[in-house]
Amino acid sequence: MTDDLLTFLDGIPTAMHTAHELERRFAKYGFLRLGENDRWQLEPGGRYLVGRGASLIAWVAGTAPTAEGGARIAVAHVDCPGLRLKHRAARQDGGYVVAPVEVYGSPIIATWVDRDLTIAGTLIVGNRTQAPFASDYSIVPFSLVGARGVIPNLAVHLNRKMNESLSYNEHEHLNVLLDLASGEADNHTDERDHAHGNGSNHSPAAILTTLAAASAGVEPEQVLDAEFFLCDGGGVTIAGLSGQLFTAAAIDNRAGCLTVQEALCSSEPAVTSVAVFYDHEEIGSRSATGADSTLLQDWLQRVVALEYGDSDREAYYRAVSRSTVVSNDAAHAVHPSYRDRHDRAFAPVLGGGPVLKIDANQRYAGAPQLTARMRVLSQQCGVPLQELVSRADMRPGSTVGPLTAAQTGMATVDVGMPILAMHSIRETAARSDVQQLQQLLSAYYSS
Ligand code: ZN
Repeated sequence: MTDDLLTFLDGIPTAMHTAHELERRFAKYGFLRLGENDRWQLEPGGRYLVGRGASLIAWVAGTAPTAEGGARIAVAHVDCPGLRLKHRAARQDGGYVVAPVEVYGSPIIATWVDRDLTIAGTLIVGNRTQAPFASDYSIVPFSLVGARGVIPNLAVHLNRKMNESLSYNEHEHLNVLLDLASGEADNHTDERDHAHGNGSNHSPAAILTTLAAASAGVEPEQVLDAEFFLCDGGGVTIAGLSGQLFTAAAIDNRAGCLTVQEALCSSEPAVTSVAVFYDHEEIGSRSATGADSTLLQDWLQRVVALEYGDSDREAYYRAVSRSTVVSNDAAHAVHPSYRDRHDRAFAPVLGGGPVLKIDANQRYAGAPQLTARMRVLSQQCGVPLQELVSRADMRPGSTVGPLTAAQTGMATVDVGMPILAMHSIRETAARSDVQQLQQLLSAYYSS
């Protein structure tokens, strides 16, 4: 499990890369990919997977229909906060090639500065002679090898107050230095002109597209559109004197994704068991693929319709009522230098086991029967369960748990792995917590 996690965290942390890696792992366990636009045929005990954008649902069909057995669901999110490159605005400017960024979610921006940044993202690949509808295009992830950009800090000599309050204006101060300017400035930014040989193939945007196409193994002429993110390219590092810690990008929530995937693949469930991986958690989940969408409802309605026929509408409501959701997202471990940010009675530590996240205001989902079930399961499988309740004068961040509960009406609970420096470009966690979280989720699927 730990080696598996290390390989997983060594990859590039964009949502689409994470989704592709999960899909590859599910395929190894015999999960069959279905399209939302296909006609489905499901068999009891069958293993299936369906995607929408970078979101995925994988499930093992139970031997009992869902209206009788319900669905046992665990959810995690594939996206992470970061910086998206405005690649069409890349330009030669005063001796440099630079590009502005958009901030995605709420990263700790200072950690993206003075960092070797690699560039990764997705290409929309298709035929230029026709408008891309339905299956006329594909989405291909790419990543450029090595450090391709840096956002340099201002020298301390030019801002003597830097260490008193470090702040950045996202529009003014986060331009990425991509290269030195070469020769005549050519800032024409439409990569399609480049593909059509219109003489702008030296524009920074065209160069970015050409590099991305080469790394994805497609021709630049096939690229209809592209999305570029700046990522930490440092992979995963085992840390601490005894090697019990690790640091990596997007442990929140790639560790959550991997523990859900491993738990589902390693269990032999009797009832329908489901792993859901949502995109867009970090920006509020409101999209066609986020937790505030119809994704999970659509899936359950479809499964129930296949089991009972379209006319038995009541079967859907019985299935909802018997289903449960465990939302698995990172939890704040107590910080050694900022212990006062936690209620001392609820201060999870790294290496102390998975965390049950509790909030009276439902920033974390907490269906009482499911909270009780997690406590019982942790005792049964011998995994310690830490608890997190925020200080009364602080509001915790939220998760996909409350949104999934609100969208589906299913009993939902929030758990997660304790980490430090949530939303930093590199986060810190303990190796044993990964293993114990996976054990707890396996017990949930098998219970
Ligand atoms: Zn998260």
